[in-house]
Amino acid sequence: MGQSDMFSLQGKVIVVTGGTGVLGAGFVKGIATQGGIPIILGQNVEKGNERVAEVKANGGDAHFISVNVLEEAQLVSAKNEILGKYGKIDGLVNGAGGNIPSGVLQPTEDVFNLNIDGMKDALVLNLWGTIIPVQVFGPEIAKTGNGSIVNISSVSSKRAITKVLGYSMGKAAIDLYTKWFAIEMANRYGDKIRINSIMPGFFLTSQNKTLLTNEDGSYTDRGNAIIRNTPYKRFGQPDELIGALVWLLSDASKFVTGMDIGVDGGFTINSGV
Ligand code: NAD
Repeated sequence: MGQSDMFSLQGKVIVVTGGTGVLGAGFVKGIATQGGIPIILGQNVEKGNERVAEVKANGGDAHFISVNVLEEAQLVSAKNEILGKYGKIDGLVNGAGGNIPSGVLQPTEDVFNLNIDGMKDALVLNLWGTIIPVQVFGPEIAKTGNGSIVNISSVSSKRAITKVLGYSMGKAAIDLYTKWFAIEMANRYGDKIRINSIMPGFFLTSQNKTLLTNEDGSYTDRGNAIIRNTPYKRFGQPDELIGALVWLLSDASKFVTGMDIGVDGGFTINSGV
């Protein structure tokens, strides 16, 4: 392996759950640009087909399968479809997830009257929506002898971010899971498969749009507070996650496992002083 092809994903079949989302668009583009074949799993058929068409228009290959990441049977059938078409699975990006509005605690609400159901939904989607795909695709990924799994965490797993408790608990649980699973996998598979996470800072996407922007497009007080507390004084762009993702999926990070890579414009290390 020369230095120049260390970051190559040439011919690698990489499942991207939530590849239909805003950050997912960057993940799909990044994988395809490095020669990989993104397999987009999500629930928005129109967006999924759009993403596949974009990759193909640029000379690459991609495939969409409509799947709910919480439904194991649907994931198993997707796995069989992928193996039938491509014969292997090299990697997995767990991009499906996000905040759930009913799991948000508004500042005016009683802190002792949490919407437990809403918070459970957010916890389940983010945590189990990551673990179940790993259970289903992991054994195939390990077979390649060189597999990589990337989870998506959040700065809310490290700092207390008001309102989004269920979501934050889901992401904090992903952090622990990533470390725990990295060790237990290494004990059984050595360096044949690894698992890491990316911790994005704040990116404007559909899941947080109503929290961060008003109808006229201006920032809410919360949006302004985020900018104020982000040393780079701006939100991130989805393309700015591509470097970390390609590194974690490629041989360039072969000796890296159980790590959480922050891409946050300095938000989590900022004391504000
Ligand atoms: P998004 O809503 O644009 O994308 C999420 C995608 O996941 C959507 O396409 C959605 O349809 C899909 N999805 C949701 N539930 C699903 C299910 N049960 N089965 C299959 N697909 C499902 O939001 P995004 O910001 O692009 O989020 C991507 C990931 O990044 C999420 O895990 C999110 O928590 C995380 N994240 C986002 C930010 C941010 O600032 N936007 C920050 C930190 C972490």
